[in-house]
Amino acid sequence: MIIDCHGHYTTAPQKLQQWRDRQLAGLADGNRKLPGPAPDISDEEIKNSVEGKQLKMLLDRGGDCTIFSPQASGMAHHVGTQEISEAWSTVCNDLIYRVTQIFPKNFIGGCQLPQTPGVSPANCVKELERCVTELDFVVCNLNPDPSGGYWQDPPLTDRYWYPIYEKMVELDVPGMIHVSSSCNPCFHATGGHYIAADTTAFMQLIEGDLFKDFPTLKFIIPHGGGAVPFHWGRYRGLAQQMKKPLLKDHLMNNVFFDTCVYHQPGIDLLTKVIPVDNILFASEMIGAVQGIDPETGNYYDDTKRYIDACSLSDEDKKKVFELNARKVFGRLDSVLKKKGLLS
Ligand SMILES: [Zn+2]
Repeated sequence: MIIDCHGHYTTAPQKLQQWRDRQLAGLADGNRKLPGPAPDISDEEIKNSVEGKQLKMLLDRGGDCTIFSPQASGMAHHVGTQEISEAWSTVCNDLIYRVTQIFPKNFIGGCQLPQTPGVSPANCVKELERCVTELDFVVCNLNPDPSGGYWQDPPLTDRYWYPIYEKMVELDVPGMIHVSSSCNPCFHATGGHYIAADTTAFMQLIEGDLFKDFPTLKFIIPHGGGAVPFHWGRYRGLAQQMKKPLLKDHLMNNVFFDTCVYHQPGIDLLTKVIPVDNILFASEMIGAVQGIDPETGNYYDDTKRYIDACSLSDEDKKKVFELNARKVFGRLDSVLKKKGLLS
């Protein structure tokens, strides 16, 4: 089985954005009412928004299922109030649930959390619990910078974050460390902010001792771990200077990198530097980079090709494509069994 552990609903029907626009218009003018608690989107519209897109590309490329979450840039935790964030998250997560019901064999849910800058992530516990226990979601996207490029909340190792970690551990749900759009013009969202945040999150984890308090907490750092694999010597060296344990003991029982690296040399480096048990197959399709690479004639985000072509053994490739995901996403096996995808 090939599990793509990182996909977003970037092709959601326009009505979702229209609902969001109305919601945000209400911030400026209280007389503007929402069209309803949720956008009026039919099953047919959902089907059409996914079928010829993510689903077709997944199957054409040889994949089986995708762990699918709301559009990351759309989370925009920096916009509006806690209440706005909560209502928006519920709407987005409910829509993901409907995708997983319409295409039960191919999509498994991941949730957006109703974070807000300066508001304790304790407010996310309820929505996480709902998504996991009622909607069968297996992961949450945790934004390390809800301010959207200004980094106003404490580092991920701070006790500030502990309420959400406690619930993640209790539910056996990992977090994908994933920022949203950038409202800081210095950071391009997917080219600057995402990769910087991936790298920053890893460094925060080096500086702290989070996994002493949460030995079973798991994080996926997407986009290949940002700059971390390329600078692995820097991070090992910094940890050593800080008198931290070796990274393999300090972090690598808890931190995993995906394969959203869009060229062969990048994947070759990732698979050479990072232990194979810490690598999860993903494409983040349809996402930030949608074109065809003129050097290869293939889509940049057709990441399965790079894994197929890398020097890992077949056994190790199976870990990357399937077995590691089934370990990291603690509830995945039971969801796959429920869907008849695993006996
Ligand atoms: Zn993403």
